[in-house]
Amino acid sequence: MLQKGIITNVQRFTIHDGPGMRTELFLKGCPLKCEWCSNPESLKPYIEPGVYESKCISYEKCGLCVEACPEEGVLSFNEGKLTSIDRRKCTGCLACYDACPSDAIKQWGKIKTVEECMVEIRKDKGYYDRSGGGVTVSGGEPLVQSDFVAALFKACKEEGIHTCLESSFHGDWKEIQKILPYTDLIISDIKHMDRQIHEKHTGVGNEIILKNLQRIAGTDREIILRIPVIPEVNDDKANIKATADFILNDLDGKVRTLQLLSFMRLGEEKYQSLGMPYGMDHVKLDRESFQKKVGEIAAYFNHRGIHCQVGTKEKQ
Ligand code: SF4
Ligand code: SF4
Repeated sequence: MLQKGIITNVQRFTIHDGPGMRTELFLKGCPLKCEWCSNPESLKPYIEPGVYESKCISYEKCGLCVEACPEEGVLSFNEGKLTSIDRRKCTGCLACYDACPSDAIKQWGKIKTVEECMVEIRKDKGYYDRSGGGVTVSGGEPLVQSDFVAALFKACKEEGIHTCLESSFHGDWKEIQKILPYTDLIISDIKHMDRQIHEKHTGVGNEIILKNLQRIAGTDREIILRIPVIPEVNDDKANIKATADFILNDLDGKVRTLQLLSFMRLGEEKYQSLGMPYGMDHVKLDRESFQKKVGEIAAYFNHRGIHCQVGTKEKQ
């Protein structure tokens, strides 16, 4: 119960990542860098500050962050407003966050023990029981904090709470093995079937992910698979066919639903707060024709005998 994790957010009453009403924990740290990631605050495996320029009162009227910062020349201002933090010099001490009176500096990541998380989780036990819900751990990448996730899920199972692991499965099998005994349901993505294209858009190849999915399919866990459908990255016929072939030939009938997640421009403000470029800035799309295409992809999977839907809310 003393096991600690670094968590960016604990969200109650979620309905999209697993069945029923759920509490979802988003963990910090991820080995992938997907261009379309909507949670850039989850990428680094440590606590860090974010900057929200529009909330800054101004250096002239306040300046408390500069006074509090123990490093020289880390905080930059433009027309009086805090605009950025030099991440090479910043030690992540968060003295600026503590000093700021106006929410212009946000703390990305908090350390919590398993017991602290369980206090939050227990609040909604009645909702889980009535709705068939439970707890989902997502990220970031939960495998980066596998000991914490295993301890948390063990505590959930001891209290009869359903557990769902949402992971990219880019990680060592031995980390997955720690968590699997306490996991009821798996959610994972297939982002691209071609190794090189996968690496180009996510920073890593797909071999480890596909191998781990095959191994999980060899257990008795059910899997919800997802494809984040990204225009001109993975929505072509050859990739969709290869994905269907893999699901049918390599995953042993364990995929209970394939969910298609249509690309959305999300998280741009968070990228800005972290001083990171948004990788999908160049994408312009006609929403109506793109949604039509996503619908056609779903129809293709269903035609191949794979239960497929657009969106994350499970439909029976
Ligand atoms: S986190 Fe610490 S080092 Fe970084 S900018 Fe804030 S006060 Fe300075
Ligand atoms: S402490 Fe906050 S409000 Fe004050 S100058 Fe710094 S960022 Fe702006």
